[in-house]
Amino acid sequence: MKRSFIREILESIDEQTISFAGGLPNEKLFPVEDLKNVTQKIFDNPKVLQYSVSNGIKPLREKIAQQYSNEGFPTKAENILITTGSQQAMYIIAKYFELKDITVEEPSYLGAMNIFKLNKLKMQGVKLEEDGIIIDAFEKSFEKTKLAYLIPDFQNPFSSTYSQDKREQIAKIVQKYNGILIEDSPYSELYFDKKNKSISKELPQNSFHLGSFSKTLAPSLRIGWIRASETLIRSIMIIKESIDLHSCGISQHILDEYLKDENRYKMHLQTIRNDYKTKMNFFAQTLEEVLPEFTFTKPKGGMFLYGKFNDLDSFELVQRCMKNRVVFVPGSEFYIDNRKTSEVRFNYSHTNIEDIKRGLELVKASL
Ligand code: PMP
Repeated sequence: MKRSFIREILESIDEQTISFAGGLPNEKLFPVEDLKNVTQKIFDNPKVLQYSVSNGIKPLREKIAQQYSNEGFPTKAENILITTGSQQAMYIIAKYFELKDITVEEPSYLGAMNIFKLNKLKMQGVKLEEDGIIIDAFEKSFEKTKLAYLIPDFQNPFSSTYSQDKREQIAKIVQKYNGILIEDSPYSELYFDKKNKSISKELPQNSFHLGSFSKTLAPSLRIGWIRASETLIRSIMIIKESIDLHSCGISQHILDEYLKDENRYKMHLQTIRNDYKTKMNFFAQTLEEVLPEFTFTKPKGGMFLYGKFNDLDSFELVQRCMKNRVVFVPGSEFYIDNRKTSEVRFNYSHTNIEDIKRGLELVKASL
């Protein structure tokens, strides 16, 4: 196993380097004042510093459950397990399915693939297209694995979004083989036009739906969650308890207090969506002007823009780019076999407009 190229880049680059590499939110939009105020408030009760329950504090689980129910996916607090980021959610689930076979998208999220390797799950890759995974190939693979890990909304790294038709077909296939879907949805609130329906909604007994506050509020809170049937939640509790007893109580209380004002959170989400949409459009336009040989489809939300050059090794390109003080993630990182590819993932949420232009010109100069 090797460490994440992205994590290593984050550790090695200096202030002068323009980074399109990490999946970082725009920190200028963190609701600092609101978070300061709610943090001050929660300390009125010293119990926030005490040990807490393993599945997460009930009022926060209730609020998350309510959000699902509001969207037509009936959910109770008992269906929610609070985790230390959705990264831990994946770890818990992977441990539960240790040594099993699993169907994954190709390309897929590096952090998930590393977890699967660590827990000795055998990954079978199925090609991803603009409107989602190739259905026939998915069924062939799922028939054997009966377990799949998918990111249907604004996929990391591919930035694709599943069509409603493919969502329905996948739900039918999971039901047909009575398998399990792990639906990872950290970006689903970052839509530019409309929210998509989760696949898990059609599979309440056969799915783990993963969410996170990392992309919508602040990743350093390290709070995510799993939505699953009560039976599945009970089965994985022992793993959660063994790892860390419970996720950070202070973070959970901060979130619970913050979410009491529903309107405030709604407005904050709208601010991020507007900002990311503007940046994505600017990024796409600048790519067309500066790097016309790079082909891509505009994402419908999220933080990434994925595409490819004509004929080059993007891993070699990023080495040259690093010397010129600009970085991105080469596509090879997102494939199980680390194959050579001309594909590239750009993050657009974190860089300011001036640096987007300058950074892409530096990429051009490195070709
Ligand atoms: N899933 C995907 C697809 C991601 O891109 C990320 C973060 N980059 C995560 C899960 C983990 O996020 P967190 O642990 O911060 O919730």
